[in-house]
Amino acid sequence: MNIHDSVTTLRGVGEKTAMQLQGMGIATLLDLILYFPRSYEQRMEAREDLLDGTVLVVLPGVAEKIGRPLRTGRGKTLVTGWFQSDFGRIKATWFNMPYVQSSFTMGETYELLGKFSKKGKNLEVVNPSVNRDREGIVPQYPLKEKVTNTLLRKLLRQVFDKVRINENLPRNVLEAEDLMPLDDAVRSLHFPKEEAVLQAALKRLRFQEMFSYSLKIFLSKSLRTESGKGVRFAMSPRLRQLKERIPYALTGAQSRVVREILKDQKNNWPMNRLLQGDVGSGKTIVALIALFNVVDNGYQGVFMAPTEILAQQHYKEALDLLKGLDVPVELLTGSSTVTQRQQILGALEKGTPMLLVGTHALIEERVQLPKLGMIVTDEQHRFGVQQRAKLMGKAEAADVLVMSATPIPRTMALTIYSDLDLSVLDELPPGRIPIETVLYEEAKRVLAYRRLVEELDAGRQGYIVTPLIEENEEHSMASVEGLYEKLTKTYLKGYSLAMLHGKMASREKDKVMQAFKEGKIQVLLSTTVIEVGVHVRNASVMLIENAERFGLAQLHQLRGRVGRGEHPSHCLLLAEIRSEETRRRLRIMEESTDGFHIAEEDLKLRGTGELFGVNQSGSSGLVLSDLTRDYALFLKANAYARKVFFGTEPEAKRIREEFLEQVTARLNLICLN
Ligand code: ADP
Ligand code: MG
Repeated sequence: MNIHDSVTTLRGVGEKTAMQLQGMGIATLLDLILYFPRSYEQRMEAREDLLDGTVLVVLPGVAEKIGRPLRTGRGKTLVTGWFQSDFGRIKATWFNMPYVQSSFTMGETYELLGKFSKKGKNLEVVNPSVNRDREGIVPQYPLKEKVTNTLLRKLLRQVFDKVRINENLPRNVLEAEDLMPLDDAVRSLHFPKEEAVLQAALKRLRFQEMFSYSLKIFLSKSLRTESGKGVRFAMSPRLRQLKERIPYALTGAQSRVVREILKDQKNNWPMNRLLQGDVGSGKTIVALIALFNVVDNGYQGVFMAPTEILAQQHYKEALDLLKGLDVPVELLTGSSTVTQRQQILGALEKGTPMLLVGTHALIEERVQLPKLGMIVTDEQHRFGVQQRAKLMGKAEAADVLVMSATPIPRTMALTIYSDLDLSVLDELPPGRIPIETVLYEEAKRVLAYRRLVEELDAGRQGYIVTPLIEENEEHSMASVEGLYEKLTKTYLKGYSLAMLHGKMASREKDKVMQAFKEGKIQVLLSTTVIEVGVHVRNASVMLIENAERFGLAQLHQLRGRVGRGEHPSHCLLLAEIRSEETRRRLRIMEESTDGFHIAEEDLKLRGTGELFGVNQSGSSGLVLSDLTRDYALFLKANAYARKVFFGTEPEAKRIREEFLEQVTARLNLICLN
């Protein structure tokens, strides 16, 4: 038997079952082996203290009496049975399983599996099943149609009876990293004997998965840098002139990053760089300098922002900066007129060099960019996976710069994004007045709003951010609409207040935002849609409702909306504090304004993959591993992958070839043979 054989070679797999398995992505024995449990169920032996109706236990019972199926008022069938056990008489009830009546022989002992609870002298249990597994830990597979857990286990048993998985990592590595042999690991994942063994199996397979993942990243980087497809941009002699036009001196960090980018632009392979910088660190000017150099070399440079208002802001900044330098700057968004659009698209098609700022409108099919030299994406975490893919399709040979304020701890970013080169703006422009952050408990709501109103009375503007849109009765969470009603009648009576939320059309959102920018609205009440990089210099206060619901990184991002002008700014966190842990978490916001520090603390407290944006696992192919949780192991797997990828010894070469062949052929990163 070979793991590439069809599942139809197994006993019990007819045409119908084969079809259903196919629907679950299982065609071969290998697919079956790689079909991992979703979770594991612990089956405990019954104990007095476990009979409280919440714990799944196995309890042997002697069948005494099984009733006939009855119909309930609601049209369900009901079967009641009685068993004798060491813990008292058991009354078992089954709903809609009339067939159980005939599955027990009176006087026989059955291992009943269920959640038992005491009722007087008796025990009660609903829908118990008969435990046929010897093991204490039973895998639960994601199921579809008629394929049951039992069937999958039966099939897997057959496979493991006949197949052994060859080891594909050298013994010295297994020993050094304390890893279980591959065959044991795969078997134990499906049939774990005990918790410790299961953990060891998971460790081995996670190592393997992250090892393949690392190899794949090394491969993609080497393909890129050896492609020779990139444009070699010269350093424009006019960069000096441009620099003189900037109304401030660049920070040390900005100058360093500009140099890093210009150096990349000179290479004959496409740049792929992530620019990370805290909110307000001045990423925009860096992008504009790089784009200017590309356009001055006779190419097209594109600057894409996630919202119209942000695109407009960048467009204006570009116009101001490049005035008199005779560099065409255009804006293309959803609200460009037909004439404007035609003009721009026409010029682009002809290959006219220009700096083009815009929204997703830029990645539409009809936008032809024959002289595309560079694409910059601002706030890249705001773009979907597909949008990013589309953009990359246009940019096969162009330099790519993605910018993000989401602070990922340095060491982690370097390793995880190893196909992206990383630039960091770790210095804020001088003269910023630090934002003062104060935590208010729910009971002090009045004080928080009083503070907000003080700012308004002094001529400033403010934001209020809340986690949800619609009123949610279960949680007392403030919602935009409900809150709007309340505020206009209470704390903010007589002040001009407008709403902004994700369910509004983008044109409407931009209109509100524009009015706020122009000072026609005093307070903007919004969901997190305002998170992204807009400056309103006169806004000096940010009040966050239900702050306990947000991650620290996100709070930091939101807070970055204020402190953009010459006025001292305030961030007011209004929170329901039910635990010391929440208080400790939010206190970090009071104590620090350093995005990296906050991200690291957040990571320590929450240990989540959220920092990396939406479903990192889905697109990375990682199934068992979570790069955040398993970071220590990742470092080891990554280091070993580096050795294998760049190694010249025959062993490195053999492993490299074997793994890369599998990794490039399939999505699954766990390689077996
Ligand atoms: P972010 O990194 O959050 O996108 P921006 O590029 O929007 O930051 O810059 C924030 C503000 O700081 C802008 O108003 C910009 O003009 C200003 N700025 C950028 N660099 C400097 C600097 N070196 N000195 C002074 N102000 C700067
Ligand atoms: Mg920005």
